[in-house]
Amino acid sequence: MVYLFRSFTFSLILFLLAGCATSKKAEISNQTKDDGKIQIAILQMNDVYEIGGLDGGKVGGLARVSHFYKELKQKYPQSMMVLAGDFLNPSLIGTMRYEGDRIRGRQMVDVLNNIKLDVVAFGNHEFDIPEEDLQKRINESNFDWLATNLAQICGNKEYPFYKEIQGKKHFLPESKVYEFKDDDGTSLRLGMFSATINSNPVGYVHYLNPDSCASVEITELKQKSDLLIGLTHLTIAEDLAFAKNHPEVSLIMGGHEHDHNYQKVGNTMVAKADANAKSVYVHILSYDHSKKMGTVSSELVFMDEKIGLDVEATMVIKKWSAILDAEIKKVFAEPYQIIYHAEQPLDGKETTTRYKPSNMGVLFAESIMHASKHDAQIGFLNSGSIRIDDELEGDILAVDIFRALPFGGAIYDVKMKGSLLLGIMRYSEKSKGLGAYLQYTGLEKMGDSWMHDGQEIDPKKEYMVAMTDFLLRGLDIPFLNEENDGILSIHKPINGDKDDFRQDVRRAIIEYLKTL
Ligand SMILES: [Zn+2]
Repeated sequence: MVYLFRSFTFSLILFLLAGCATSKKAEISNQTKDDGKIQIAILQMNDVYEIGGLDGGKVGGLARVSHFYKELKQKYPQSMMVLAGDFLNPSLIGTMRYEGDRIRGRQMVDVLNNIKLDVVAFGNHEFDIPEEDLQKRINESNFDWLATNLAQICGNKEYPFYKEIQGKKHFLPESKVYEFKDDDGTSLRLGMFSATINSNPVGYVHYLNPDSCASVEITELKQKSDLLIGLTHLTIAEDLAFAKNHPEVSLIMGGHEHDHNYQKVGNTMVAKADANAKSVYVHILSYDHSKKMGTVSSELVFMDEKIGLDVEATMVIKKWSAILDAEIKKVFAEPYQIIYHAEQPLDGKETTTRYKPSNMGVLFAESIMHASKHDAQIGFLNSGSIRIDDELEGDILAVDIFRALPFGGAIYDVKMKGSLLLGIMRYSEKSKGLGAYLQYTGLEKMGDSWMHDGQEIDPKKEYMVAMTDFLLRGLDIPFLNEENDGILSIHKPINGDKDDFRQDVRRAIIEYLKTL
């Protein structure tokens, strides 16, 4: 009896399931048969250094991107999210320690996993972090990494970069075909390749020619894709030249530059969004199999206060922000206090700060000079200490100064001979493009001469210069070290003196900006 009952129930369920399946099949074949047309959406970000929002949380932030993407997916169930390089570095959180190691992009991979990013290209900044840490980040990631023109150098040999999953090495693909299928069964095979700029020479990376490597991939992808798209990290000039040479590519989603840009070259679109997810691009790719033709329509969407915050992503971001806040509070009690309002954007981009005096660099140098306890006449810092590679605008929070100068350090008042000062400034001029290039105040360059207060620097006179302690280690300017004969005295900050802001350059800048 029991057996019969069971058997009956079992077959009834089977029957119901079978009924279900048949009716669904019938529904598909009667009402929606493959129309040969498909639409997919791609959300593009590039150059994202911060997991949280900027300008006091009002713009950008990956919680906002995630919220927006979930809504986009409602409208376009066939969609993907991509990041065109530069995301592991620089960031303030990345410089801090967690579970014994420097964080170095772990926070970013954690959040990108949470928001279900699909694929990244390598940017130059991915290679800022040591090889071992980069490997950990790749292994931790749940998304794809395309490495079209990159090889990893191991001793005398070269191999593709890899991801280690459960002890097994899987080489990263040079390109990949992503397949989509819509409700009526129309499919789309999207062939994607990448290209990474050769601008960050490090021992473990061999950059192959991006154009020729991508060309090889395109030839292969053509056989197995309906549409071809690139996820690149090149200069806009390189992207445009590439588009011109490859009219078969529908869309190039690029990065590296930090301002949004959209250009058409023949039938190829080249798009870059604003850095730090201040904006994202939404590309709608439509494909018609009967015409074998695809179209791209793109919209730049600003990630501002109109967009909500995803709750899950916010939780992950908060976990990492708490580590950051605890570290900052050791130097300044209120990380989110507004300390200054910048009417004009303060330029902390490396393309500015490493080549000429920038308003951000000069303001920092003034702060350093202002913090002096020995009436410094001149202040400077190495442009390499400015790591934000972005602009600061509007309300500036204390935490922004830590973002700009993640490594901090003390300020020393250094009395030196004019001859040494001149040597330093000449070295700085020769270091354009490098971190040793100085941002300064109290000096003016006129022709080949250096002036202070309207007078040419006298090699025999003495000058009091406030500078960051890092510079005195001789790592950027080799002869600028405590042993140099041109240095007459060094005045270090007084330990335990709460009013001596020289103990941390960020504190000195915050206190100075508050007075303006
Ligand atoms: Zn870049």
